[in-house]
Amino acid sequence: MDTLKILSDYDLQPLNTLAVPSRAKQFVRVTDESELEQALAYAQRQQLPVLVLGGGSNVVLPEQFAGLVVHVAIAGIETVSEDDEHMWVQAGAGEVWQDLVEYSLQQNLFGLENLSLIPGTVGAAPIQNIGAYGVELDSVFDTLTAVHRANLERCTFDKAGCEFHYRDSVFKNRLRDALVITRVTLKLRKRAPLNLSYVPLQEALASIPAQQLTPGKVSEAVIAIRQSKLPDPARIPNTGSFFKNPIVSLEKFVSLQRDYPGIVSYPASDDAVKLAAGWMLEKAGWRGHQAEGVGMHARQALVLVNPGHVSGEQVLDYARRIQEDIQQRFGVTLEREPVAYTNSGKS
Ligand code: FAD
Ligand code: NAP
Repeated sequence: MDTLKILSDYDLQPLNTLAVPSRAKQFVRVTDESELEQALAYAQRQQLPVLVLGGGSNVVLPEQFAGLVVHVAIAGIETVSEDDEHMWVQAGAGEVWQDLVEYSLQQNLFGLENLSLIPGTVGAAPIQNIGAYGVELDSVFDTLTAVHRANLERCTFDKAGCEFHYRDSVFKNRLRDALVITRVTLKLRKRAPLNLSYVPLQEALASIPAQQLTPGKVSEAVIAIRQSKLPDPARIPNTGSFFKNPIVSLEKFVSLQRDYPGIVSYPASDDAVKLAAGWMLEKAGWRGHQAEGVGMHARQALVLVNPGHVSGEQVLDYARRIQEDIQQRFGVTLEREPVAYTNSGKS
């Protein structure tokens, strides 16, 4: 453990956008694969549970984490190859996601514009297959490299191996907390099309003739909409959407529509429908609701806010109240989007 600086009783409150009070027994920042492997080996020797942290924008942390927090700070963004149609861009897991978006826009590449301004790091992007405005990471994903936490072996995952789904991947399920992602390679396009399937985006760009639209202009519009709707975590702590939009069977949807003719939904497949969780929360009176320092944002019902800096446990209790209410009213299960940890690293 010569080269690594292990810190004790480390304050994680500034490192999570929900601003829950949280301290780690030990903390280390790793800047390359070798440091990561040293850190994981150290945790194994000391029999410490490990919690991997990127930008802390999609986690609910415990008050005390009785193990080693590994903060991934692997840097570097570079174009690794290209053909007539595409550029393959690789980024270190610790790079800020928005910096990668900006790199792609500087090269006039298509693919990341709708994903502008999503907080967090490159390494966390595959964990929930980040998505916004009709585009998900999997549409541009090529490969990632990772280190197995158990045996320290380095491995590579292609798109099929990641088992990407809506805000989901193998890394949130079968391989949850099994690997540390070190680098991600994206296959970005040199040409159109742009994805303007979301109405607010179409409206924001309506004054620009189609032939003058560029990824940069779409990105600017996405940023403007996001800044107008979403609370800035630096001012009002939050993790973005706290619940996923539930996907229900067509049969369930038809019965809901009978009771709630105004229900907002989008087709998910031939026999499944995606419900707007924000609509259900609003209908149930949760938008703008506040209770002892925690609540749901007034402008966006899906965003749980923590102005009182209450603990992760209190946040989860509040979220459970909401989940139970939505279950009772609509018979629909709301799944949490952020990953929650206990003091031993399990949720
Ligand atoms: P963290 O919160 O640090 O970690 C999240 C999970 O990933 C944890 O389980 C952690 O252990 C794991 N992890 C992190 N890095 C690694 C790694 N290198 N290897 C292995 N595991 C790792 N999400 C969207 O999909 N779309 C949005 O539009 C969106 N908007 C948001 C808006 C706001 C205001 C906020 C606060 C959040 C938003 N999010 C959105 C959620 C969040 O930004 C993303 O999920 C993001 O990818 C999380 O990145 P992070 O680095 O902060 O991850
Ligand atoms: P919005 O545009 O008000 O739309 C509300 C919901 O309807 C969204 O959740 C979106 O689903 C869905 N929707 C809207 N138009 C759709 C279409 N044409 N096809 C399919 N589904 C459609 O949403 P918003 O809250 O302002 O967010 C805008 C985008 O940013 C969304 O994609 C959202 O997921 C993303 N975002 C995500 C987070 C997060 O933390 N995960 C936080 C903020 C914003 P989807 O969510 O499935 O896209």
